[in-house]
Amino acid sequence: MPLHLETPLIQSLPLGLAAGLPVWLKMEALQPPGSFKIRGVGAACEHHARACKRRFVSSSGGNAGMAVAYAGRKLSIPVSVYVPETTTERAKTLIRQEGAEVIVHGAAWDEANAQALASLDAESAFIHPFDDPLLWTGHATMIDEVANAGLAFDAVVLSVGGGGLFAGVAEGLKRNGLGDVPILAVETEGTASLAASVDARQLVALPAVSGIATSLGARQVSTHAFELSQTRPVESIVVSDADAAQACIRFLDDHRVLVEPACGAALAVAYAHADRLARFERVLMIVCGGATTTAERLQAWQEF
Ligand SMILES: *Cc1c(COP(=O)(O)O)cnc(C)c1O
Repeated sequence: MPLHLETPLIQSLPLGLAAGLPVWLKMEALQPPGSFKIRGVGAACEHHARACKRRFVSSSGGNAGMAVAYAGRKLSIPVSVYVPETTTERAKTLIRQEGAEVIVHGAAWDEANAQALASLDAESAFIHPFDDPLLWTGHATMIDEVANAGLAFDAVVLSVGGGGLFAGVAEGLKRNGLGDVPILAVETEGTASLAASVDARQLVALPAVSGIATSLGARQVSTHAFELSQTRPVESIVVSDADAAQACIRFLDDHRVLVEPACGAALAVAYAHADRLARFERVLMIVCGGATTTAERLQAWQEF
């Protein structure tokens, strides 16, 4: 039994009406730790457990850390999550709730990550949030499920942070004979690291990331993600924070599911940028989820 669930695949009438074409949703928000990340993280953790690792280490105070904590609890393997001082109480609580140890170190993520790496020994496995082939192979199972359900679609819309989800979906499409299906890769203005690399035609790092879509906040996508953008059909789309926040609010009303702005960014393509979908006949949207948004935060974003 894998650590992730097979998630619902549903047609969204509200998003379809907004976009002007049939929209299908892969509901990764319903994974127990709140996002798609458990697919890849779960596969990586099971791999390391088979290799007799006795401890998992993460440096993500977000959904990747939560997924590692969840996997560790399920596999009865202790987990240490190193996070910087800026990490929210909610994130720390969610990780501790899974039974993991949270170690607060440093003012920014780089310092927490360095401490995490320094803590590794032969018996511990470091679980990267997005740059690891084990993750991509695990994430690809979401496309296996869609293909097994027999759904035909001619585009996939998803969010991009460091590009792990993107790489996993690309792998899933390829292994199901769908390598020609375009991926619409969505970022917010403050996190548009794939867009910057696509524009520059080479892998570049943003000087900084900003905005409310914190789970998309990788300054640079993985080399593999950039290479995919050059070798398979990919369209980069950048939306505003306001678009992403409004999409979260509308999605809560439309589907009764609360997601992060990181996920709202992808949903905003149907709600606010339907022109980008006009040439397709039926699109698949990955509802990647995210556990760090609260109803209170969402209310504050109403102001946007
Ligand atoms: C991690 C995450 C993303 C981005 O995934 P990458 O693999 O880093 O591109 C998007 N949405 C949510 C909710 C996430 O947790």
